[in-house]
Formats: sequence, C-alpha cells, structure tokens
Amino acid sequence: MKFLSGKAPLLIAMLLVLGLSGSGCSKIKALVAKKKAGGSPPAAGSPAPGDPSGPVAPHPSGAGTAAAPVAAATPARPVAPAVNKSAAVMVLCYHRLEEKPRPKDPLAITPAEFEKEMQALKDANFAVIPMQDFLAWRRGDKEIPPKCAVVTIDDGYSSGYDSAWPILKKFNYPFTMFVYVNYIGSGGKSITWDQLGEMRDAGVDIESHTYSHGDLRNPRDKYAVDAHTYGMIQADVQSLGEDGWLRKEIIGSKQTLEKQLGIKVNCLAYPFGKYNQKVREMVKEAGYEGAFTVYGQRLGYSAPAADLLGRYAVEQGNPKIFQDALTMVGGGAGGPLPAEPSMAQMAASSMVTVPAQGETITNPKPVIKANLATMGDVDPASIKMRISGLGVVKSTYDPASKNLSYQVVQPLTDKNVTVIVSATIGGKPAETRWDFNYDPAKAPAAASPKPVTKL
Ligand SMILES: [Zn+2]
Repeated sequence: MKFLSGKAPLLIAMLLVLGLSGSGCSKIKALVAKKKAGGSPPAAGSPAPGDPSGPVAPHPSGAGTAAAPVAAATPARPVAPAVNKSAAVMVLCYHRLEEKPRPKDPLAITPAEFEKEMQALKDANFAVIPMQDFLAWRRGDKEIPPKCAVVTIDDGYSSGYDSAWPILKKFNYPFTMFVYVNYIGSGGKSITWDQLGEMRDAGVDIESHTYSHGDLRNPRDKYAVDAHTYGMIQADVQSLGEDGWLRKEIIGSKQTLEKQLGIKVNCLAYPFGKYNQKVREMVKEAGYEGAFTVYGQRLGYSAPAADLLGRYAVEQGNPKIFQDALTMVGGGAGGPLPAEPSMAQMAASSMVTVPAQGETITNPKPVIKANLATMGDVDPASIKMRISGLGVVKSTYDPASKNLSYQVVQPLTDKNVTVIVSATIGGKPAETRWDFNYDPAKAPAAASPKPVTKL
C-alpha cells in the first residue's frame, strides 16, 4: 500500500475511525491531548456565554419547569427550559469486577477498587446522573448539576449484576449496562436475561453494545473476536451481506433488546470504540441518541457529536485513566465549552497511517508512517515516535509533506504493535496512537479483502 498515493481518500475513509483512548475492551488507543482541561465549570444556573435566555434558576428535574403562571392555561409553543450549557459530564466505562483478576487483564478490576473509585467520585463532588438525564440535558430538556459523571458497564458480565450493582446501590448511583446480544445467557461469566430483567425493573438503564461485539468497520477482522464469534459473523455476512450484517449489529441488537426486555434502547457503545462513516450513518438511521467510544473526554452540551461521545475505560494497573476522568482531561474541550470538536480527535480520525489501524502485516521490518497534515500546527522539533517493544525510535519528519516515518531495523516480535506519536500542536502537548498486528505466519493472500471461508 502506497503512502498517500492516489488512494489516499479511500484510505482516509477507511480510517475515519479511531475514537478511543483508554483501551477498555480493545487495545485501541487514540489521541489523548495531555493538557489539563483548565478551569472548573461555573455553578449551575449561571448562563452560558452567549446564552440568550439569560439567568434562570436551576431546577433539579424536569418537573415543575412549567410553573410560570401564564403558561399554565395556554400551552402554546413550549419554550425549551434553559439548561446550564456550561455543565460538564464525564462517562466511565467498566467491564468486569473480579476478586483476583489476572494481572494484565485490562477488563477486570477488583470490587474493592471499584468501590474506592465510586467513593472518589463523591469526594470529588461529581453528581452521578442517569444516562437518560445526560441525553435530556443535551436536548435542552433537563437541568443537570455543573459537574456530572455517568457510570457504564460494558459487555454483559454477570459481575455487573453480582458485584457492581450492590456497590452502586450503596452509593445510590444510577448506571447503564451496555450488553451485546450474543453474549447474554451464554454461560460462563455472562449475565442472564432474567438478571437483566431484574435490573431493568430496578431502573438500571440497559443499552446496546451490538449483537456480536465484532469490529463494526470490518467483519473480517479475525483478531477482533474469538474463533466462535468470528464464525458466527462470517455466517451472517454470507447470508445477509456486509450491509445486512452491519444492520443486524446496529439495528437488530437494539430491536432484540427492546423486544426481549420491553425497553427503549437509545444508546450504543461501539465495540472497541471503533466506527467509521458508514457505521455512523447506520447509527443515525437506527435512531440512537448517543453512541459511545472509549476516547476519554469531557462532554459538553453540544460537543462532541452525539455519536462520538468519549468514555474513560478504566483499567487495573493504569490508575491514570481514572485520575484523568476525575479532572476530565483528554480530548474534550476544557473550560467554557466551545462547540467544536477537539483538535486532537480530529487528527486521530483523519490521520493516514501505514500500517493502517488494525492491519496485519507479515514483514518484520516495515516502514512505519503517519501523515500529520491534519494535526494542525505541529512543532517539528517536538515530534516523537514510540513503538511498543522498541521504545522511542529515530523517526524522520518531512515538514513539507508532513510525513513522519521510521524504518524498523530491529525485527518486530510482538504480535500487536502500538505506535504512539506525540508532538506539540498549537502550543499544546498531544499524542495519537494506533495499533497494527504482526503475524509472520499469515499467508499474504489472506490479506486481500476476499471473503473468508467459514471456519
Ligand atoms: Zn466491549
């Protein structure tokens, strides 16, 4: 694949992707602006700059908002209640609680650690609000406190029921379960439909994490799922076509959960935080109100986009992610929220890399490249490339083409390679990262996009 050849637009389209920092269920990482988000949000009720509605007393819930004496008789054109547009929300993403997690399992943390973090939210004065309040606030329908957190638990492990729920009850925290349909009631550590029903009855928010947890960008990514799931996805692709498969993942999962549990599903968590333009379009078609990546960031009233909402995917052994969540550091905007996506995230979604995100290569000594053109005002002297297993490497940067490259000298050994590029952009430190796979045993033919025969 030629770097920035005539195929660049296609490549860019393919790479319109990467949300995500923190790894959660994936190893994917993307761009994380390291700058601390400055300033704390103003108190509830203070009007956002430029908010034409002026000061309005905060009302803690939607109830009572129509208390104006005149409005009672003539419910003409309802005026949307003015909400505090300067409030900020961060969303935490957990997976599994285990008493003795394997040391390097990024998906598991101990119940004690989880409880400690729930307490830390309280100590840091976060109001833990329901997902639906967050969405209602973004619609301008409901006021929320100035500094909020939403707790989400991904995948549908039974520990969400057994272990996390009792702790969350203790704190009286609402939370959301993002479950993927195929896993429910499949035995082992999976949650059952009955348990989900019980949680639903108690007011737990249950949302979609697709059908199979495959990489929505590419059903043929063998590395995204286990062999069994991979087989199921291939069968779906064969019988439904690729679009039909994607439809089942995004729309079918929503319908199944709604039917099975008698609920309304309006949120999706992208498996591995991965998406592309086509995925985003289908999310819109499905009528989701919010779609979540694992790109930890401060969420504001109007930014980022509703289908690119970042979450902090908490990991054991990486306390920094939770610390960042407490200060809402990350790609999101700091201080008073400008209604624009962070430069950092834009860069991640448009940067052309070789090898591409998620690509599997056979060459142990590849040339690794990234084009930094979309990253904005990069200070050439500040650019650093770091490769997992190799450390900081002597990369070359061409300011004219904005191409950053490095010829690997010492053969790769790790199967999964992460490349991290850090630089000062417009005076702010930022970094972007992507992953690719190295598999010397992989037959080159398998790299072509021909249909993979069923396993
Ligand atoms: Zn997941």
